[in-house]
Amino acid sequence: MYKGSCLCGSIQFELHGGITDPIYCHCSLCRKASGSAFATNGYVNKSDLKLNDAKGTLTYYESSEGKRKYFCSLCGVPIYSSNSAKPDKLRIRLGVIDSDIVERPISHNFITSKGNWEELDIDLPRYERHEPSRK
Ligand SMILES: [Zn+2]
Ligand SMILES: [Zn+2]
Repeated sequence: MYKGSCLCGSIQFELHGGITDPIYCHCSLCRKASGSAFATNGYVNKSDLKLNDAKGTLTYYESSEGKRKYFCSLCGVPIYSSNSAKPDKLRIRLGVIDSDIVERPISHNFITSKGNWEELDIDLPRYERHEPSRK
């Protein structure tokens, strides 16, 4: 079981299951959403995520129809995203997990959208779009 939280601590969660195929995503949306060179995201089962949002600070931005990016309205930290086309899954932001995790990122995605200032120095497969195994 993994534990996670936002920066201000208002949102706490437990993840009672694994993370499937986490990736480094360098697409322009992930760069903006993370405020950094890339986001590191992976699928979890929605039923495995036990969220404690006692102050009700979790909110979302719908970046396109059916795709919601959930974040803490107090500290602004991204927690996960959802896609109405995959209602049983969420994409967790690995940076908000406090526990050591066993899964490892499998690829760099959307590398043609990466910032021209970013040097890719982690040796993983590189794709112009999603990793080929993504359904
Ligand atoms: Zn917060
Ligand atoms: Zn992305």
